Amino acid sequence: MNVVYEPKGRAREYSELACNLYMGCVHGCRYCFAPACMRSTAEKWHSQVDLRKNVISLFEKDAEKLMGDKRRILFSFLSDPYQPIEREKRLTRQALEIVGKYRLKSQILTKGCADLISEDLSLMKRVKTQLGITLCFVDDTSRQEWEPNASTVEDRLSILKMAHAEKIFTWVSLEPVVDPAQALEVIRIAAPYVNFWKIGKLNHMKAVEAGVDWRKFRKDVKKTLAAVGASFYIKEDLQNI
Ligand code: SF4
Repeated sequence: MNVVYEPKGRAREYSELACNLYMGCVHGCRYCFAPACMRSTAEKWHSQVDLRKNVISLFEKDAEKLMGDKRRILFSFLSDPYQPIEREKRLTRQALEIVGKYRLKSQILTKGCADLISEDLSLMKRVKTQLGITLCFVDDTSRQEWEPNASTVEDRLSILKMAHAEKIFTWVSLEPVVDPAQALEVIRIAAPYVNFWKIGKLNHMKAVEAGVDWRKFRKDVKKTLAAVGASFYIKEDLQNI
C-alpha cells in the first residue's frame, strides 16, 4: 500500500490500519511521540506541516485495493487530521469522501479545530466514521500547559455533544493520563456523550510517570467507568502494570 499502513506496538491497540495525511503537527503537545517516531525534533515537527506529495490520489489507490476490508483506518497517529492547515487543504475531508466511495471503515483521532470538525460531522455521519477526541484534562490551564495549540476542553466537550446528538459513534482517547484526578473527572463529565473509552498511561516521561500510582489509577478508573456504565478498553501497559 502507498499511504495506508498497519501500525505496530501500542498504536496497534487503537487501530489495525492508519493513514497520516499531514506530516507535522502544530498542536505542539509536550508528550508528543511523533518526532521520535519520525527521527525529527519537537521544534521541527511542531513548527511546520508538510504536505505528502499526491497523498489523496495515493490514498484513493489504497482505498480501491482495500474495498471490502473490515479493518478501520485511523486518521491519524503522527499528526492531527483537524489542525489549522486543514482549513485550507481539506485533505481529511477528501479522504473521508474516498472512505465513503469505497465503503471503507474509518475513525478519526483528533484534539483539533472544533469549527472544522463540526463542518465535517454530516460527512462523518454519512460515511459512518467513528469520531475520537483526545481528552485528558478538565482544567483548561493544564490543557494549555500540555497541549498548547490544540482546542480547548470546552470545545472538545462541545464537539462530543454535537456528534453524539447526530448519532455519530464517539470515543475518547483518555491517553496519556498526566493527572489521574482530572482523568477521572473527564469520564464523569463526558460520559453521556461518549460511546467508547480508550485509556492509556503516560509513557516516555519518567519524572512525571513516577509521580503517579498507576495501580491505584487503574482501579479507580475501572470503578469510575463502571459507575457510568461505560464501554472501554484499557491499554496493555496500564492493564499489566
Ligand atoms: S496532536 Fe498528536 S501529533 Fe499533534 S502534537 Fe499532539 S500528540 Fe503530537
